[in-house]
Order: sequence, then C-alpha cells, then structure tokens
Amino acid sequence: FAPWEDSEQKPLIQFKNVTKRFGSFTAIDNLNLDIFEQEFFALLGPSGCGKTTLMRMLAGFESATEGTILLDGQDMAPVPPNKRAVNMMFQSYALFPHLTVADNVAFGLKRSDMPKSEIEGRVDEMLRLVRLEKFATRKPHQISGGQRQRVALARSLAKAPKLLLLDEPLGALDKKLRQDTQFELMDIQEKTGTTFVIVTHDQEEAMTVASRVAVMDEGRLVQVDTPARIYENPNSVYVADFIGDVNIIEGNASNKGDGLVEINWAEGQPAIQGTATNAVQDGTRVTFAIRPEKVSITQERVSDKANCIEGKVLDIAYLGNISTYHVELPSGHVIKAQAANNRRLARRSFTWEDAVWLSFTDTAGIVLSDN
Ligand code: ATP
Repeated sequence: FAPWEDSEQKPLIQFKNVTKRFGSFTAIDNLNLDIFEQEFFALLGPSGCGKTTLMRMLAGFESATEGTILLDGQDMAPVPPNKRAVNMMFQSYALFPHLTVADNVAFGLKRSDMPKSEIEGRVDEMLRLVRLEKFATRKPHQISGGQRQRVALARSLAKAPKLLLLDEPLGALDKKLRQDTQFELMDIQEKTGTTFVIVTHDQEEAMTVASRVAVMDEGRLVQVDTPARIYENPNSVYVADFIGDVNIIEGNASNKGDGLVEINWAEGQPAIQGTATNAVQDGTRVTFAIRPEKVSITQERVSDKANCIEGKVLDIAYLGNISTYHVELPSGHVIKAQAANNRRLARRSFTWEDAVWLSFTDTAGIVLSDN
C-alpha cells in the first residue's frame, strides 16, 4: 500500500475544510487534503491558484479563515512559525553573503539549544548530504547557482524538520541544471525521509519529483493523485489540458456499453470512439482527450475499424528521438501525433503535405464530461 491508500496510516498534515480569504477574495476554498510522512508532494497550478497561500499556512505565515490545519494530529492554529517542525526554502535561497557555506548551514542550529560540539557534526553531515564538503569555507559569491541552491537545502534540513516546504526551489536554475537538480532533490528527500511539499508551476518538474501531485485551480483541488494516474486518467478537461500535450476534440456522445463511447464530432468525419471513466449520457456534449503519443501516423490505413482518420502533414516538430506531427483533417481540425525516429529500423518519417492516416485504439482516448 502507498501511504495514501492505507486507511490505517495517520497523515502528517491534514487540511480540514480550510478556507482562506483576503478581504472578500477567496484564495483557498474549503479545501481538504492529507499529506503523509515521507511523501514528496507537489502543488501544481497556474499563477494565482493558491499554491503559495497553502504553503504559507503550513509554515504559519498565514492563518486559515475557516477550518483546521493539523500537523501530526496537532492543531497548528496557536503554534507560531518558529515553533513548528516545519521549514521553508525560498526561491531566492536567502543565504547570508558574509557567512561561509558552513556557517550558513549552522545558522539555525546556533540559535537553537544544540551543543556546539554537536552543531559541527550536524553541519558536516548536511554538507556531505548535498555533496559540498569541499566548499565549507567558501562564501556564497564564490560558488555556483546550483551549489547555492544546495547550501540552502542543507540549511533548511539542518534542524531535521518533519516537513520541508520548497517554493519554486529550482526556479533560478537553467533548464539542464534544473533537471539534474531534480534528481538530486529526490535523492536527498529519500535519504532524509523528510516530507517535502514543493510548489511549482512547471508540470514536468512536479511529475518528475513528486510521489503525488495536487492540481489546483482557483483555490480548489481539482485532482490529487500519482503523476502516472494524473497523466493517464485526468479527471477533467482542465487537468488533461494542464498536464502534458493533449488533443482535445468536442462532440456528441452515444454510449456503446462497457464504458465505450462513440463521439460524433465534425461534419463529414467518421465518428471516433474512446473510453469514459464516468457515466456519460447519450446525446450530451463531451470532450475527447488523447495524448499525441497515442495517435499513430502511417502512410496506409491500418484497419477498417473505427478511429482511423485521414489527413495531411501540416507541421513537424523534430525532438530527436521522436517527432510530433501536426496533421490537418479535411474538416480543418488539426490533430497531433507522435512517432519515433528510429534510423536503424529505417522507419519512414513523413514530410510536409504528405497524405497520412491517423489511428488509435478505443482505450487510447478518454471521454470527459465536465458539467
Ligand atoms: P504564483 O504561482 O503566481 O505564485 P500562487 O498559486 O502561489 O501563484 P497565491 O500567491 O497563493 O498564488 O495567491 C492566490 C490568490 O490570492 C491570488 O489571486 C493572490 O492575488 C491572492 N493573494 C495572495 N496573498 C494575498 C494578500 N496578502 N492579500 C490579498 N490577496 C492575496
């Protein structure tokens, strides 16, 4: 059992009917959420959806207008930020420029009642954890951006918090370094066993690092699930569209039984079929969502069954191992399909204006009814 599937497991953090208002504006709207020990949990959503507000409430910088936030079963409302077993790492890192790397890591420990002899050992341990032992005596301006990020991480883990909040922790790094650092972050989280809650607007980052992802919209949780389930089984058009690349087709539904739904979607186009996870009423408007990698592109028609569509190549995005083809249909719709570029297999690739066939299985696309 994963902790969130185990009813016996006690959550580390519980949001119970939490609402946060700023004046008449509702930033968090009656939110319920459990986060478990040792989880790497990501809050994902567009700007202004309430991610930072949720973090600030956990840290104790904001209080809930209504509802309760529990940490280890204890109501956090009366507990000030410095008395919580919670630490927060900011995007700016906020390192002290005049202190060495070691002194930056030791900073919080020196203000606690930890004996001096122990502090040194703890600082060494933290510097080893982030692989910066050799940089202990440097000042922040004498190390790279990625190294500064690791100093900040070491500092925020030094006091062994139960919960570490990371607000866009990799936002200042360039793409390559950011990707490497994601794996480092996962490794450090695993080694320490600390619960990490990360805020990011980068969906790839959330999907890479997190054991579970919460997708937010306007102060509400839209879906909370593992990255794979969020990607494969989005519960709404909003989530399907927010995570990864997707083709969205709207049409009228008719049920074929066993979750199979036929969709009539464009004049002159054959109906397509997909799988619905929730009951769909005949004749209602539905959205069909299919990932480009689930649409095959071929020169010939591959079957006489449903879900074969004819079109012509409009645009090609070469991505190295794969290419994404934008295929225009006679109805004017454009569908994205992906194919591997495998030279060894001498797989034929397509070029602009090529006449092609798109096809997909009945379970490749999901049918969503959002209303
Ligand atoms: P971003 O990705 O841009 O940081 P976010 O999802 O973290 O966005 P929040 O900072 O949590 O969003 O803000 C949620 C909403 O609450 C926004 O509309 C914001 O304007 C509003 N808000 C946040 N703090 C305050 C405040 N102190 N007073 C009034 N409104 C606020």
